[in-house]
Amino acid sequence: MANKTQSDVLIVGSGITGLMAARTLTGRGLTVTVIERDEQPGGRMATYTIGPGMADVGAQFFTVSSPVFETWVNQWIDEDRVFEWSQRWSRSSVGATPFGSQPRYAARGGMCSLIDHLAADLDVRTRSRLVAIAPNGPSWEAIDEKSKTYEARAVLLTPPIPLALDLLKPAQITLPDADRAALEAITYMPCLAGLFWINSTLSLPEPGAIHLPNAQITWIADNRHKGISPNATIITVHAGPEYSRQLWHRTEWEILAALEASLRLYKDPNTHTIERQLKAWQYAMPIMPHPDRFYIPDNLPPLAFAGDAFGGPRVEGAALSGLAAGAALAARLA
Ligand SMILES: Cc1cc2nc3c(=O)[nH]c(=O)nc-3n(C[C@H](O)[C@H](O)[C@H](O)COP(=O)(O)OP(=O)(O)OC[C@H]3O[C@@H](n4cnc5c(N)ncnc54)[C@H](O)[C@@H]3O)c2cc1C
Repeated sequence: MANKTQSDVLIVGSGITGLMAARTLTGRGLTVTVIERDEQPGGRMATYTIGPGMADVGAQFFTVSSPVFETWVNQWIDEDRVFEWSQRWSRSSVGATPFGSQPRYAARGGMCSLIDHLAADLDVRTRSRLVAIAPNGPSWEAIDEKSKTYEARAVLLTPPIPLALDLLKPAQITLPDADRAALEAITYMPCLAGLFWINSTLSLPEPGAIHLPNAQITWIADNRHKGISPNATIITVHAGPEYSRQLWHRTEWEILAALEASLRLYKDPNTHTIERQLKAWQYAMPIMPHPDRFYIPDNLPPLAFAGDAFGGPRVEGAALSGLAAGAALAARLA
């Protein structure tokens, strides 16, 4: 049937979790379809174009603590896809003392370039928002908002948990009570992110970024200084979770004005803003992640939940979760 896609594994979400899982599964000879609601793959590792410039709007850098992720990152460094941006943030970052010296990595061309590399030889269908999954005998059927259907022996759900659980509702899929409670306990901090294309430079200290963990504005970074926006100075500003909640229902103009006010300290009088963009991340960072790297219910055909809410947060946690979930599903399907 032309409107039906069949594969061994259907992966929902093309963030780093979904792509690492997809690479694991295809590496073991399984067919994989990745479906993504957005126009571009990457999820929270997004890079936006603004004017002639580029800016990382979600994840700004990543760190490495596990040997498994280190192997991947070393390969990306060898291929010149990833570079060490900084060992530490500037001492002018108020309250930055808790952040010790360790490499913070960024991707050449922005986080989206690394994502494009990971997605390159995979079957990734963008602009396809899945709306429901349902068991179909020993396997699964799924449908997207354009009524396109997908059949797969296994499904991997990588959206933030509240969105993943929504996909179970139309078919009234139930999870064991304790497991469902553990998933429902995972909540997320929001983050309002502003991008500002300015006509000159900001006097941000090296390495062109300031991290202010407990302030209203937690992050200001110059993407030109970072090396990903050679043709224009684009500044990324992140509001902390509390300030993001306070501003959330204000107008876009008011939110951008509040974020832009944080740049005053670093501007000279001739600096002005040429263009602004707002991105509201409702599910930016998980609070109290699940202790395991993934979750597979035992009362259903093969179905895994994975992402940065499992076993450890941030880019590294997501990547490790994707790798582990991919390996677990491959073992189930062997
Ligand atoms: C503002 C911000 C700053 C951050 N800064 C850092 C940082 O500096 N360092 C760091 O290590 N981490 C950082 N993070 C966290 C990091 O970005 C995430 O932990 C990681 O990218 C999560 O990857 P993921 O694949 O698990 O989820 P996601 O990237 O969220 O991927 C899930 C994907 O599922 C898609 N999706 C959702 N619902 C559906 C549906 N129904 N159908 C189809 N597709 C769907 C989404 O569009 C998305 O692409 C930051 C996050 C944010 C938001």
